[in-house]
Amino acid sequence: MSENEPVAAAQTPDGYLEFLKERRAEILGRVKDAADRAGRSVDEVSALAVSKTVDVPAVRLAWEAGWRAFGENRPQELRRKVTGCAAFPEMADARFDMIGNLQTNKINQVIEAEPTLVHSVSSLHLATAISRRAESHGVTLPILLEVNVSGEESKSGFSPEEAAASVDEVLALPALDLRGLMTMAPAGDRDAARRTFSGLRELAERLRAATGLPLDTLSCGMSDDFPIAVEEGATLLRLGRVVFDPGHAPA
Ligand SMILES: *Cc1c(COP(=O)(O)O)cnc(C)c1O
Repeated sequence: MSENEPVAAAQTPDGYLEFLKERRAEILGRVKDAADRAGRSVDEVSALAVSKTVDVPAVRLAWEAGWRAFGENRPQELRRKVTGCAAFPEMADARFDMIGNLQTNKINQVIEAEPTLVHSVSSLHLATAISRRAESHGVTLPILLEVNVSGEESKSGFSPEEAAASVDEVLALPALDLRGLMTMAPAGDRDAARRTFSGLRELAERLRAATGLPLDTLSCGMSDDFPIAVEEGATLLRLGRVVFDPGHAPA
């Protein structure tokens, strides 16, 4: 079989659905293997299909292939996907999370899309602004604190020390419900990825001890590093290309 064959077969909607199903089975197999290696139950791990690079019809097909949780990184795109998928009544069980950088002037758009979880609360300033807007919409938003564990300058988020120092202030914000932590690992460096994910887990343990809260959602692991994330304690993977792109097989 030529290497391009799956890519070619995925050009039609039927072919693409078949591809999405096979790829999903392959991904779930890798998650299971990684959980086994770490002595974890696979039931502790779930995954978002990050749909930012595809359109509503592909999200609908991904739902048909078995995906139930989706992630978007831009407020407008989140709204477009939520609205578009609302046209399919069978998709009422789908959840949409906000995973990307958030500017204060876009908060209302995000709240109006009613995301299940906002992963990317990257500063106390942002947390305060989101809580204020959520309060005026009469809702409580489940959130994660985004932590820059690796310390790369290009990444946003609390430093681990800032997160520990700010957690009480975040918990005092009336319209936020803190569920855990999120991070992104440096690309292309497996050892650095592992240190990033284990650092996130250790920070969560520290915050649990300090607050007495479960803080049991650890959002980490993307297309190229998700098996390592599972080994290091991830509970919610964010998978984009590996779900939707026939040319991007799991490593
Ligand atoms: C795009 C994106 C992902 C998924 O990335 P892949 O490498 O394609 O799996 C995960 N998290 C965030 C915040 C993203 O923007």
